Amino acid sequence: MPWDSLRPYPAALPFVTGAPWPCHSPVLRASLATTTTMLAAGFTLTLLMVLPGTRADLEGAWCYDSQDPTCGPTHWKEVAPACGGPAQSPINIDLHLVWRDPTLGPFIFKGYNAAPPGPWILENDGHTVLLRVDTGQQSRLEIHGGGLPPSVYRARQVHFHWGAPAYAGSEHSLDGQRYAMEMHVLHVNSRFRSMREALGHPDGLAVLAVLLTEQDTDNPSFSVLVSGLKNVSARGLSTELASTFSLASLLPASSSLGRYYRYSGSLTTPGCQPAVLWTVFQDTVPIGRAQVAQFQTLLAAGPPGSGPTPLADNFRPQQPLGSRRVTASPGALVRAAAPRLGLDGALAALLTLWIGRQLGQGV
Ligand SMILES: [Zn+2]
Repeated sequence: MPWDSLRPYPAALPFVTGAPWPCHSPVLRASLATTTTMLAAGFTLTLLMVLPGTRADLEGAWCYDSQDPTCGPTHWKEVAPACGGPAQSPINIDLHLVWRDPTLGPFIFKGYNAAPPGPWILENDGHTVLLRVDTGQQSRLEIHGGGLPPSVYRARQVHFHWGAPAYAGSEHSLDGQRYAMEMHVLHVNSRFRSMREALGHPDGLAVLAVLLTEQDTDNPSFSVLVSGLKNVSARGLSTELASTFSLASLLPASSSLGRYYRYSGSLTTPGCQPAVLWTVFQDTVPIGRAQVAQFQTLLAAGPPGSGPTPLADNFRPQQPLGSRRVTASPGALVRAAAPRLGLDGALAALLTLWIGRQLGQGV
């Protein structure tokens, strides 16, 4: 069934924007050319991935269609070639086609159940609002297990994707159903010495994706974070949260963390490096309608000489799955028989039978 027919919200429409974004200016065009040259030289930093204190030149070179279609997702490959390459994210997860993988065991979470010392910094980077949670040894938040390679993955930041008011804003979908928002908890494989190195490997990053559903009442687990949003209303602003909190409180209930889907993909923002082992939890987390509205009041930078534009609909269109396979943990929902699995099994059984008979005849 096509995903459009199942989603609970109408199709997202871009905001009406005024003058075009600065990516039209000759100055920025020159900047884009410089950025492309740097990319060709292997300079593959991306905004959401940069270490604190560094800035990526890609930052002002791309946007979402809601801000200006001429620097939106179809143009990202012009500033980050990997955006036009294989193994891209996000995707729709078709529950009829996922393959069961018994090796997708439970996650082990370290530091997730307590409020770390912090402080945590919330930042509006013009593309999303992100919470930097990697604030030193005392605040280490790590995961391992969960079918990930035998390594520890360390949490760096949490960020969000959302739609315009009354529109779905998640990046991934389950059986075509998109949700109000999506939260990404980004972890780096501790095997690598730097983010830059991790971005060059298909197992460099592990992102936990949580689909958020809108409800009438606020979810108190988001209260501290949402309270900080008023202090980061415009691009470039950052604020120290009033307190830290248990990151586990933003995840699905512990009893359902074993139900998830896994595939290999990419960052969903430029430079789109195919370096992410994605985990999309089957169970969603509620967030209050008024809380979602607070995200929708955030602003991105507007074109020079005009006011800022709303920061909304900050999700990338879904990408082709191609030859990739999405797998399901033992507890996750799989719809009916996976036909390819069944066919493979039947062929294998026939082949075994045929070989057996051939051997039998030779004795
Ligand atoms: Zn994201």
